[in-house]
Amino acid sequence: MRYSALSILFNGLRGNQAWTPAWRQPEPKPHYEVVIVGGGGHGLATAYYLAKEFGTTNVAVLEKSYIGSGNVGRNTTIIRSNYLLPGNNPFYELSLKLWEGLEQDFNFNAMVSQRGVLNLFHSDGQRDAYTRRGNAMRLHGVDADLLDREAVRKRLPFLDFDNARFPIYGGLLQKRGGTVRHDAVAWGYARGADMRGVDIIQNCQVTGIRRENGIVTGVETTRGFIGCGKLGLAAAGNSSRVAEMAGLKLPIESHVLQAFVSEGLKPFIDCVVTFGAGHFYISQSDKGGLVFGGDLDGYNSYAQRGNLANVEHVAEEGKALIPSLSRVRMLRSWGGIMDMSMDGSPIIDRTHLDNLYLNAGWCYGGFKATPASGFCFAHLLAKGTSHDTTRQMRLDRFERGYLIDENGQGAQPNVH
Ligand SMILES: Cc1cc2nc3c(=O)[nH]c(=O)nc-3n(C[C@H](O)[C@H](O)[C@H](O)COP(=O)(O)OP(=O)(O)OC[C@H]3O[C@@H](n4cnc5c(N)ncnc54)[C@H](O)[C@@H]3O)c2cc1C
Repeated sequence: MRYSALSILFNGLRGNQAWTPAWRQPEPKPHYEVVIVGGGGHGLATAYYLAKEFGTTNVAVLEKSYIGSGNVGRNTTIIRSNYLLPGNNPFYELSLKLWEGLEQDFNFNAMVSQRGVLNLFHSDGQRDAYTRRGNAMRLHGVDADLLDREAVRKRLPFLDFDNARFPIYGGLLQKRGGTVRHDAVAWGYARGADMRGVDIIQNCQVTGIRRENGIVTGVETTRGFIGCGKLGLAAAGNSSRVAEMAGLKLPIESHVLQAFVSEGLKPFIDCVVTFGAGHFYISQSDKGGLVFGGDLDGYNSYAQRGNLANVEHVAEEGKALIPSLSRVRMLRSWGGIMDMSMDGSPIIDRTHLDNLYLNAGWCYGGFKATPASGFCFAHLLAKGTSHDTTRQMRLDRFERGYLIDENGQGAQPNVH
């Protein structure tokens, strides 16, 4: 069923009884051309683009729980392409361009809102770094504006500009950045893939990867063996666990990241703001809740929940930036598992095992990458070669020393 104003009218007149399920609940077939492990944003987008752009429709996405139960439904919904390095920037700009046409493309309202992303700076040194970043963005054809302190004050007068430790000097604004309703992204891609013949199989956990003479031939699952021509791993926070089933040890650590939502307030934050001195960021949802987050919890974990010490830490950072936050009631918080790579950048590559392909290392920035990641992983699976924008996102870059160290922090996943 195609969604349109007419279909809403038609279904409304019929008491909303004629809507059909947005995707099927198929039984797994014994064999597929491509099997993707992980029904998160990246796995579903990969299946969608495989079917739509590359004509590969004999595809299954295997999800151990329900689709959207992982990070795609747990993130703080920020999209942007304000990257410095050539290994990252064209890829994230491709993603932002895909976001810009996504709702028309997959015929689903994902509430893409280009309200702007503002990164604040708090010292002369940080201003230099952000100026350099802005220039690099413009050289790549990406929009970037450097705002001085007064321009930021005009837009966000409630920030603490004269904080003794972190005075605000200005900010780097990407106007085309913004937010997208995260679970709608999973649903939109799922529906679009299903419509083109992809089987989305929920409650199907992959428990083993079968190899014959070094060639991957399928997966053991809680619903039996499923054979495949090619196997794509897109398990995000569980990437290391899944790859280990094929004997691979990844340059990835899993950490918890938490997100928070406040009670609904009248609109007062009209863009995404990041606090460059701490690791705090905030936006306001269309329902009025303040959506915010901060640092990783700081220890390795596969649990989808965080600790109280970090709740306090994030709240303190928020109050340092916006003192009036102390009067706001927090409604809920949750955690997700981050696949932190050693240089903070992702991996989209084939592995040394025939038929096994890897999409991982998204850290806490993989939501904005969802469309490009899906498109480029589909390109790799269908054509066997990397898409131009992911040529540096190789698995062996850690062996060769060609890191994409966007933050210049070295091999320390906990600080990326
Ligand atoms: C609190 C928080 C805030 C964030 N904020 C942002 C943000 O503002 N902007 C941004 O760009 N990024 C953000 N991120 C990061 C982003 O959400 C992730 O990088 C991205 O969603 C990861 O890709 P995914 O959607 O495919 O992951 P997931 O949705 O986690 O998908 C992976 C799926 O694999 C499944 N799986 C795992 N193991 C198996 C198995 N053995 N068998 C079958 N299925 C399996 C999981 O159940 C899961 O559904 C945030 C993350 C969190 C947790």
